[in-house]
Amino acid sequence: MAFFLLITVLAVVGVNIWTLWSSWQHNQKLREDDARNLSVSLAKQAEDAFLQVDITLADAVRQLTLNGLPYAATPAFALLLKEQQGKLRQLHGLFIYDAQGKWIATSGNYTPAKGNNADREYFAWHRTHTGTGVHVGRVIRSRSTGDLVIPVSVRLNDEAGRFAGIALATVKVDYFRQFYSYYTLGERDVLALILADTSVLYIRPLPETAINRSLSSSPLFTTVLKTSASGSATWRSTLDGVERVYGYARLEQYPLIVTAGYDRDAIRTAWLSANAADVVLNLVLLVMITGMGMFVLRQVKANVRNQLELTQVRDELTTINHTLQSLALIDGLTGLANRRQFDVMLEKAVQRSYTSGEPVSLIMFDIDFFKRYNDTYGHVGGDACLLKVGAILKGLTHRTGDVVARYGGEEFAIILPFTGKADAEKVARRAAEAVMSAGIVHESSGLPEGVVTLSAGYCALISDGQADQADRLKQQADRALYEAKRNGRNRVQGMS
Ligand code: GH3
Ligand code: MG
Ligand code: MG
Repeated sequence: MAFFLLITVLAVVGVNIWTLWSSWQHNQKLREDDARNLSVSLAKQAEDAFLQVDITLADAVRQLTLNGLPYAATPAFALLLKEQQGKLRQLHGLFIYDAQGKWIATSGNYTPAKGNNADREYFAWHRTHTGTGVHVGRVIRSRSTGDLVIPVSVRLNDEAGRFAGIALATVKVDYFRQFYSYYTLGERDVLALILADTSVLYIRPLPETAINRSLSSSPLFTTVLKTSASGSATWRSTLDGVERVYGYARLEQYPLIVTAGYDRDAIRTAWLSANAADVVLNLVLLVMITGMGMFVLRQVKANVRNQLELTQVRDELTTINHTLQSLALIDGLTGLANRRQFDVMLEKAVQRSYTSGEPVSLIMFDIDFFKRYNDTYGHVGGDACLLKVGAILKGLTHRTGDVVARYGGEEFAIILPFTGKADAEKVARRAAEAVMSAGIVHESSGLPEGVVTLSAGYCALISDGQADQADRLKQQADRALYEAKRNGRNRVQGMS
């Protein structure tokens, strides 16, 4: 029962844990897919935004190539830049610098007279790199407006292919801030645009101080990007220490990466609250099963205990019953059959005599002058004497079926089934001799032996089936005993 209960509880717990675990795994997988899909679509959006800027920049460069570099300083070109800048929402500004970093043209209204951008990272980069592809740099603060911008630049060459300056487009960080804010996300969920050199261009919802922070030690760069250009994984952010389920995607044409990360704690909390009802219900069920099981177990235990107690009580009762039975049939002083048993056994013996046709004998004994014995040795002494005489009579060799009884007072009787008169006489004599030769001193008996002696009367009959046969036997034995007394005691007398 207890084993069955244990198995049931374990099975319920096991199934629940398994169900919850697979639900959690499934939930995790869904979030991973979400994160990857989101990062891929944001990467596509970033790709488009930068491609538009790239095309605009390429357009400006083509104009300069067609018209020669001095064209850059003309109001017509400035107007062109202004027009182009107005077309793209992400575009902060368009700029042309000469080989020394001096401002030549801008889409803005203001050109600093002594402005020089030779100190910028992108300027140094193009000067040392002959390629004419676009270069995307870290976030900088615009010298014309003070806004945070991402510089996208191309190198300008003169006819001889020498470094002649730079065409620069600046992309508003704010554009991404705004775009990313359209997404409904959790407080600690992140969307990030990252430069391939590991520096952050923009990350929501972290403060501006996160911009340009390096993620070189992040698992994004140390492991995941090394295996695939897009995917999902869980790691702890090196910026704020929050563990998230991330999706990531590298842009195809530009050295940029986009990540979308869901706060793992929030995922867990949401999952827990969605499954709380299930968990509580199952726990209640478990408690009920256990409770009911324990109740039944206790009932079974109580039943078994009751049964054991009942068995014990029954055994005790049986013992008591036996004792009572024997008490009712046995003489308390001598342990011989008492008068009641004597009567029953005599009746049976007479019955058997009738059915078998064999004789049955009865001997009656009476201690001689026992009143005097009591007078001399007291009643306690008298009882001791009765005990001894009883033991001697019982100790004689008897046939099975013989019954030695205390008939009453100092009178004893022996029933001898299947025994005739002659054999009864022998038994009577043997008994009387045995008692006398035991030598129980009886000073006041008045007989010459001076010891306790018996007088005995015996008789035998073959029952004729009448109801009075037992009584007849007793009367005859009694009469014979009387004869023995009358003839002087310490003798055996048969019924003549
Ligand atoms: P008799 O030879 O004629 O039988 O003489 P008696 O004294 O034995 O006969 P009587 O019947 O006059 O006395 C029997 C005595 O046995 C009377 C009683 O005091 C004594 N007696 C009977 N039952 C008990 C008993 O259980 N214990 C003791 N100590 N004495 C008993
Ligand atoms: Mg008597
Ligand atoms: Mg007597």
